[in-house]
Amino acid sequence: MTKRNELAVLIAFVLFSAITACAPTTSPSASSQLRVVATTTQVAALAKVVGGDYIALNGLLPIGVDPHEYELTPADLRALADAQVIIKNGLGFEKPFDQPIANLGGKVLVVDTSTGAAIRKGDEQEPQGDTHIWHSIPNAIVMLNNIRDGLIKADPAHADAYRTNAAAYEDKLNELDQYIKQQIATIPPANRKLVTNHDAFGYYLDRYGLTLVGSVIPSMDTSYEPSAKELADLVRQIKAQQVKAVFTEASINSALAKQIAQEAGVRVVEGGLYGDTLGPPGSGAETLDGMLKHNTDVIVSNLK
Ligand SMILES: [Zn+2]
Repeated sequence: MTKRNELAVLIAFVLFSAITACAPTTSPSASSQLRVVATTTQVAALAKVVGGDYIALNGLLPIGVDPHEYELTPADLRALADAQVIIKNGLGFEKPFDQPIANLGGKVLVVDTSTGAAIRKGDEQEPQGDTHIWHSIPNAIVMLNNIRDGLIKADPAHADAYRTNAAAYEDKLNELDQYIKQQIATIPPANRKLVTNHDAFGYYLDRYGLTLVGSVIPSMDTSYEPSAKELADLVRQIKAQQVKAVFTEASINSALAKQIAQEAGVRVVEGGLYGDTLGPPGSGAETLDGMLKHNTDVIVSNLK
C-alpha cells in the first residue's frame, strides 16, 4: 500500500468512526423525554394531555382490563423501576401496584392523583373511600392538576407547556360538565335510576342527580361475589322501581347482568358504560372527556 493509499484508508476509518460514534441509539427527542409510567388508563390519558411530546409515556394497565384484579407482568416491574415519574390513581384502586411502587423506596417521584380530591365514603371492600374518583369532573380536574404539578417538579424546563396543556383541558372538562348537566336534564326525573354492573359510578350519580337502584356486583370492588339473595333482591327492586335498563361495563363479564335484566324483564345495555377502563382507540372513549361523554350519551339514550 502506498503512503497516499494508507492516508486515504486512515481518513476513511476516522470518518467512519466519527459517524458511528455520533449515531445515537435512540432519537435525541426520545432520550430527552421524561420517562413517565402511569398505572390506569384514566391517569395515563390525563398524563398524555398534560405531558404531550415532552414525556415518554408508558401506561401499564391495558384497555378493557379490570384494575381491581390485575396481575403485574415482569415488564411492568421493569417499567416502574426505570421511571422518572410514576402516576397512579391512588386510594388503592390499582392495589396490585402499591407494593411494587413502595418497594422502590421513594427513589422515584410518585404522583398520587387522588390527593386533594373530594372522596366519597367507601364500602367494606374499599374502606379507604370510593376509588372511582375520575367520574366526577371536579375530581378529574384535581387529578389533572396533580399530574401537572408532578411533571413540573420532575421537569421544570417545560413548566409553561405543562401549565398551558392542563389549563386548556380544564376548560374542556368544565364545558363537558355543563353538557352532562344539560343532557341528564332531558331524562324524565322518574327515569333517573341506574342499575350498573358494579358500584363504579357513585361520583357521577351524586354530581348529576341520578339514583343507584343497585349493582349486579353490589360492591366497589369487582372481586366481590353477590349472593343469590342479593341478586333476587336486585331483580325485585328493578321491577318495583320500574327501572328502564341494566347497564353492563366494558371491563366486566356481562353474563350475570344479562340474566338479571332478563329476569326483571328489562333491557340490558351491552358493553354500555366505561366504569374502570377507558375505551380502545377509535371508540371515542379513549380520552377521559370522551369516556364521560360516551357514558352520558348511553345513559340518556337508554333512560329517556
Ligand atoms: Zn371499580
